[in-house]
Amino acid sequence: MRRISILGSTGSIGQNTVDLIARDLDEFDVVALTGGRNIAQLAHDARHLRAHVAVTAYPECLDDLRDALAGSDVAAAAGPEALVEAAARPVDWVMSAIVGAAGLAPGIAALKQGATLALANKESLVCAGTLVLDTARASGGRLLPVDSEHSAVFQALIGEDIDAVERVIITASGGAFRDWPLEALKSATPAEASNHPNWDMGQRITIDSASMFNKALELIETKEYFDVHPDQIEVIVHPESLIHAMVGFRDGALMAHVGPPDMRHAIGFALNWPQRRDLPVARLDLAQVGQLNFRAPDAARYPALRLARAVMHRGGLAGAVFNGAKERALDAFIAGTIGFLDMAAVVEEVLTRFEAEPGLMDAEMTLETVTKTDHLARTWADTVMAQQAGQ
Ligand code: NAD
Ligand code: MG
Repeated sequence: MRRISILGSTGSIGQNTVDLIARDLDEFDVVALTGGRNIAQLAHDARHLRAHVAVTAYPECLDDLRDALAGSDVAAAAGPEALVEAAARPVDWVMSAIVGAAGLAPGIAALKQGATLALANKESLVCAGTLVLDTARASGGRLLPVDSEHSAVFQALIGEDIDAVERVIITASGGAFRDWPLEALKSATPAEASNHPNWDMGQRITIDSASMFNKALELIETKEYFDVHPDQIEVIVHPESLIHAMVGFRDGALMAHVGPPDMRHAIGFALNWPQRRDLPVARLDLAQVGQLNFRAPDAARYPALRLARAVMHRGGLAGAVFNGAKERALDAFIAGTIGFLDMAAVVEEVLTRFEAEPGLMDAEMTLETVTKTDHLARTWADTVMAQQAGQ
């Protein structure tokens, strides 16, 4: 039996993972499931998958979790340290599907114990790419991408020589506002931004898709994971979301990965790798699809892409600053205190202020320095937003 854990099991990626595991329960020994405030879902899945332990990120939810698990063999725990402890329990495979920088420490703990880490939590690579990859190398753990674009690139590279790669093209749907007039974006609401044309995902990544902060994070994720030069990575808007990524080789060949927008493909690929096994995803009928469209991303509409390119060139802890400031700006947009277009302006201003402090982004990358930088970026984002509100 393969021992597995799912971090962030109650979320969108987590539930798709639970769905795949539940189809083959006899093959898996489920060690830990973790979630947030959705205690009913967490307890339900922990019972159903016969997990050893269920962990909520929030200590104030522990009593509810204990009640919900009463009479079962599942242990209950709570808090950030319990998350890391759960991730450190020896298993073969861990799904990293917590949203945000909160996924970094548990992911590192999972890699340290030598597990294969299926990484949906792109923020880990954005904030601490070198640290995550070095940890995997040092422990013999393995990192498999779950983001659909990165799973696609990984698959296009099987059997290929990375030195023969000329460019990597990741696709973007364009998000909820791709056809809105630029002027209307100023007053776009969180509810409007939470409406993805093609994918069914958590609220935060859905809004990040509308602003292309998600694609911005993915640019950095591509550079970190595949170790390609920033100038070799392109973004193309592809409204159908059927091609997830393409790899261009030095002989001019372009290998595309095509499939329906269903994350169970990328999750299942990472679960079954290096084999391919049956997965319950729809098969594309290309005659019905008819045509695929592409267009260049509009730089004025998506400033996040420009910021991500600057971050890739800057290196060091710039990714942690970028992500931390973005998470705070997104919190504020969801809370209704800043506008849709303000998010990129806040992130840019925080990056500028960090750049003005010599050495701040050049500290050695450790879990501690990344966490400190993440916190500082959030604090400065709050300061910038307060100043902009006062103007
Ligand atoms: P989600 O919001 O649906 O779920 C997030 C999960 O993390 C939940 O289980 C939640 O309880 C938990 N969580 C939230 N805050 C936490 C905290 N502070 N500490 C511990 N746990 C916390 O998010 P999602 O859409 O499933 O995305 C998860 C990750 O996967 C993100 O990094 C996202 O960018 C990435 N991703 C998602 C998709 C998708 O289709 N949803 C696709 C590609 C990549
Ligand atoms: Mg993606």
